[in-house]
Amino acid sequence: MSTMLVLDDTIAALATAPGASGLAVIRVSGRDALRVAGAIFRGAAPLEDAPSHTLHHGWAVWPEVPVAGEHGDAAATATNRPAAPGRCDPRLDEIVAAVFRAPRSYTREDVVELSCHGGERCSGRVLAALLAAGARPARPGEFTLRAFLNGRLDLAQAEAVADLIHASTERAREIALSQLAGSLSARLAEIAERIADAAAEVEARVDFAEDVGGVEVPGHVRDAIAGVSAELGRWLEGAAYARAVREGARVPIVGRPNVGKSSLFNALVGEPRAIVTPIPGTTRDRVSESIELEGIRVTISDTAGLRETEDPVEALGVAAAERALEGGAVALWALDASAPLAAEDRAIAGRLLGRRVLVALNKSDRPACVAACDIADLLPGTEARVVRASALRGDGIEELKRTLGAMLAGRAEGLPFESPIGNPRHVEALSEARLALERAEAAAQAGSPGEIVALELRESLEAIGQVTGASVGEDLLDRIFGRFCIGK
Ligand code: GDP
Repeated sequence: MSTMLVLDDTIAALATAPGASGLAVIRVSGRDALRVAGAIFRGAAPLEDAPSHTLHHGWAVWPEVPVAGEHGDAAATATNRPAAPGRCDPRLDEIVAAVFRAPRSYTREDVVELSCHGGERCSGRVLAALLAAGARPARPGEFTLRAFLNGRLDLAQAEAVADLIHASTERAREIALSQLAGSLSARLAEIAERIADAAAEVEARVDFAEDVGGVEVPGHVRDAIAGVSAELGRWLEGAAYARAVREGARVPIVGRPNVGKSSLFNALVGEPRAIVTPIPGTTRDRVSESIELEGIRVTISDTAGLRETEDPVEALGVAAAERALEGGAVALWALDASAPLAAEDRAIAGRLLGRRVLVALNKSDRPACVAACDIADLLPGTEARVVRASALRGDGIEELKRTLGAMLAGRAEGLPFESPIGNPRHVEALSEARLALERAEAAAQAGSPGEIVALELRESLEAIGQVTGASVGEDLLDRIFGRFCIGK
């Protein structure tokens, strides 16, 4: 997508999900939105005269597009109708048109939202008619891009629209909605103002003392910088959790064959999906299921045992287990605690070193052969938690879930979670802002010239501006909005 930073040509797209449904909404936005929608609308009165925020019942029809003839004859009409005009009803669908005149609309342009019947055929015909009437298909995220460019939303709010649409847990929805409502933007504005005040004070002193040759930064400004830096640091502490809420987390179950991986998987997801058999190596595919823990959508996958195998089908499963391990936030390692540790267990431990591991000492209904301390020896320098469980009896399953939730959430308590920062782009920009503040603080502490401190403060403001969109380039906008779906 290449963005022209002034966009006002008329665009149209399906705003609802495609497929069979009661209604579909097609959105039209741009300087000719009313004329374009009016050209396909037959109702009690022309849409072009409709006041803002009104609804109009009528029929969608193929547009009578004036085509300039040899002599500019405007009466000639287009013949690109959908089917033989004589035989088919000119009406495409029964619709309701909602009119929003600029600037009181989602994009701040003239907008018409046409509710037609759902399903591919109806919405497809109505959209085609709009394109025939002069609209162009909207690019991914273009409605929201226009809302941003026209100042209705800042960038953090525009991104929250995408997060809201993709929220897969209640917590994710709450966070996205609060960001859309402007909570993050307001807090960033407040932080930015404090930094700008500090910068302005330092710069004023520098200007005043130009001839003297450099100034020292006064104590209260140094304190202000330290205060803002600490606050940003606290926000960033919750970032890993917020990101997990936003994106979900993957947890592969690994372990040698027959230790009870499939049984644990079934016990954790609460329904028998994976096949449980006493024959080693029978879980050949990955079976995935999602559960919610601490507001995070956790996708648990039952993988084939991690081991060398000659069987080509099983080998595929083993390769999938390796890949799942790579993408996993935490690995759930299943062990048969009723049997002595096997060479295969030690080999798996080797692959888990340095990862975050939750160890399930399964088959705890039988006399134990393996203790938690044996595991600690196998996983030196690795963040590992050990829980005893019996998938057969259901013992320890709740504790496994609790521990897994706690591991994924990190320290969730006491963080400023009103609007946590879970978007990696925001985390990166705010980390940069914080580093610049720390450099400003260090420079002020070292008695460096005020110019240097002011420069660092301006840099941190620039980084904060990347989150709100105050300082973003066209490339970044292309990247952000290109990830949206069409119609948003
Ligand atoms: P996988 O190959 O690691 O997926 O293991 P399965 O889940 O297929 O289980 C292998 C065998 O161990 C089956 O016969 C299960 O019934 C049995 N099993 C699984 N969990 C337990 C448990 O907690 N206690 C006991 N006694 N047997 C279990």
